Amino acid sequence: MAEFKCYDCGRTVKTGEKFTFTKRGSVHFECFIGSRRKEVSPEKQEALRSLTILLDKELQHLISLLDIKDVPESLKEPIRLKYKDIEKACGETTRLISEL
Ligand SMILES: [Zn+2]
Repeated sequence: MAEFKCYDCGRTVKTGEKFTFTKRGSVHFECFIGSRRKEVSPEKQEALRSLTILLDKELQHLISLLDIKDVPESLKEPIRLKYKDIEKACGETTRLISEL
């Protein structure tokens, strides 16, 4: 996996850590949510909580896919497509959180 640096805490994102991409670049899940909690208005905090749970599960799903070892050659492409689908879902949820 390529190495990314979190724009929030400045640390490198390690393999297996949850992270996402925003307009500003790559960011840890925890760093992203932590800063959104401070920025989002009180009446939108509940929406933020729901979307946080959703993104957490989606990122977990993504990491789980990477954990599948010794994938038969015939399944590499279907799994890659599935990975892209989940990645897209993570991107959409991240956007929703960014727009709160
Ligand atoms: Zn970070």
